[in-house]
Amino acid sequence: MKDSEFKLLEPIADLINNRFDELHTAGAFDEVLLKIKAAFPQLPDTFSISLDIHMNVFDKKRENGIYLLNTGINCQKGSEPYRHYADTAPQKYLVDGEMCNILDNYCPHCWGEWDFKFESPKCPECEYELGEQVKYLLDNDTCPYCGEGKITMDKPICDRCGFKVDEKKVVWG
Ligand SMILES: [Zn+2]
Ligand SMILES: [Zn+2]
Repeated sequence: MKDSEFKLLEPIADLINNRFDELHTAGAFDEVLLKIKAAFPQLPDTFSISLDIHMNVFDKKRENGIYLLNTGINCQKGSEPYRHYADTAPQKYLVDGEMCNILDNYCPHCWGEWDFKFESPKCPECEYELGEQVKYLLDNDTCPYCGEGKITMDKPICDRCGFKVDEKKVVWG
């Protein structure tokens, strides 16, 4: 989605996340979690149950939706329930020259699922391509590949994973 749309919606996702935490801390789900725990002995060992909260933005025109929030409480047999955060980090892109911001596992153009863009540089749904219509917008020095090392315009090789920025696929913001 456009950066301006993302800026409008991301705080709402954060707010929902905070409210969920408050409810959880206040014990709103205690009874539910106890019941899940009590049901496990009668369920196959391979089952796990999660109590999730999503914020989904759906675009009728694109016929695709994206989760701005995907979080919850995960329960597994024999261990205590724990909070899970399935969100990936948001990433900025230039799409047809326009700044977009979307969680990194989606296509910033059609909102279809498109993960690992450097290994598979073409969106499986709309065929937009990294280095062509889509470019990574790097506005900090975090490596877009491993998310941990440092990378700069002067030193475009990650000091951790050795990833080399392809000038065609990336623009510096
Ligand atoms: Zn796409
Ligand atoms: Zn790296």
